[in-house]
Amino acid sequence: MTEVIRSADELREKVAGWKRSGMLVGVVPTMGALHDGHLSLARAAREQSDRVIVTVFVNPMQFNNASDLEKYPRDEAHDLALLDSEGVDVLFAPGVDEVYPDGFATTVSVSGITEPLEGAFRPGHFDGVATVCSKLFGMTQAGRAFFGEKDWQQLQVVQRFVRDLNIPVRIIGCPTIREEDGLAMSSRNVRLSATERATAPVLHAVMQAAASDMRAGKPVQTALMDAQAELLEAGFRDIEYLELRTVEGLRPAPDLSQPARMLAALWLGDVRLIDNIAV
Ligand code: AMP
Repeated sequence: MTEVIRSADELREKVAGWKRSGMLVGVVPTMGALHDGHLSLARAAREQSDRVIVTVFVNPMQFNNASDLEKYPRDEAHDLALLDSEGVDVLFAPGVDEVYPDGFATTVSVSGITEPLEGAFRPGHFDGVATVCSKLFGMTQAGRAFFGEKDWQQLQVVQRFVRDLNIPVRIIGCPTIREEDGLAMSSRNVRLSATERATAPVLHAVMQAAASDMRAGKPVQTALMDAQAELLEAGFRDIEYLELRTVEGLRPAPDLSQPARMLAALWLGDVRLIDNIAV
């Protein structure tokens, strides 16, 4: 049975016991409303650690938009049932006061790679992510932490501060899990209407097509502009970015001379979608 723990002290005791027996602890940080993408991380953690903690915490500090925070889907009973079926040892689900008690005054802030893309459109978002992940690493004392490539920039940010601050955790990136039609799984997908849900997979299809055009020699900027036009035509709105960036350092990639990633954020109705693929 997956045990639910809400207090950091109680978690510390539990983990201390495991560590005394020489066990390697894996953690999967999430905001709940779990889907197969999250569960793939739990499975990776299960395979690569002796004990697995999945954290569920809808972190107010990483939301730059009050209505997004308020509308964020939550269903702890369902999450618990899924984690139980995956053999997860502990669901750590602290309240906001447990994570940010009175007097809390510290921010972990990464410069450089946090500036473009998500950082440009979600001010403060990565400060919230880096701060809460630092705390979760401290609270869980995990030796390994599993993150999805779905949030590619987030994965780079976490790797950066863990290296910079000598936090003794190994960060493991795991591939994006998609629906059969190509839509990247996301907790926010449940907010799409039936029509929007039918349109949503066009994002991945258009990105794949643009990537293959680039590989075939189409200039990067032309491929990206054509892709944007197709997305707007399909019914997406407000394309915040659709860019090609270097894997190393997330710099704008003018061509395919080094490993690159295509990343996108845009809106479908009132749902913001993000995706990224290797090019
Ligand atoms: P979230 O609950 O959205 O904050 O995500 C928690 C973790 O699950 C993050 O490391 C995400 O990158 C990862 N994740 C979310 N969606 C997917 C997906 N479709 N495939 C793989 N990992 C995912």
